[in-house]
Amino acid sequence: MSIFSRFLPKKKPVEIKNNIPKEKADIRKRFGIYCHSHHGTSGNKLCPKCTALLATVMTKMDRCPYGITKPICDRCERPCFGAKQTQEFLKIMDSTSKRMFLRHPMMSVKHKLASMGVDYAKYQQQKKLDDKVKAKEKAAKERAKERKGKK
Ligand SMILES: [Zn+2]
Repeated sequence: MSIFSRFLPKKKPVEIKNNIPKEKADIRKRFGIYCHSHHGTSGNKLCPKCTALLATVMTKMDRCPYGITKPICDRCERPCFGAKQTQEFLKIMDSTSKRMFLRHPMMSVKHKLASMGVDYAKYQQQKKLDDKVKAKEKAAKERAKERKGKK
């Protein structure tokens, strides 16, 4: 990347909104809150363990197979951070929910909405699946009826 690229105007997203930068900021804040209260760090500093985990999370987000249509990481069905790190990540996300709400209410509400969006998408997926199963069952019944009629 050129040194000057950061001074160039950013390209505007065309259709789908890219929420990844916001999610990253949200995650960074939460890591800060968590590490400060659990590992005694302060300011912009995180302990080595949290720094490593945060670096993994950020890298994995950039490589997310879902691209910018990704669900928020703490609601992903196939988290890619590795089992242990995912667990640690979820612990941080979960334990900072209350504090996030007190310190950054808007960010917290937006996170909640994003989470609801994931639920809604899952609901729609399940509904589609159910409809398919029902349609198959109906078709099978009709075929059975036809067979009986021929006898
Ligand atoms: Zn820490």
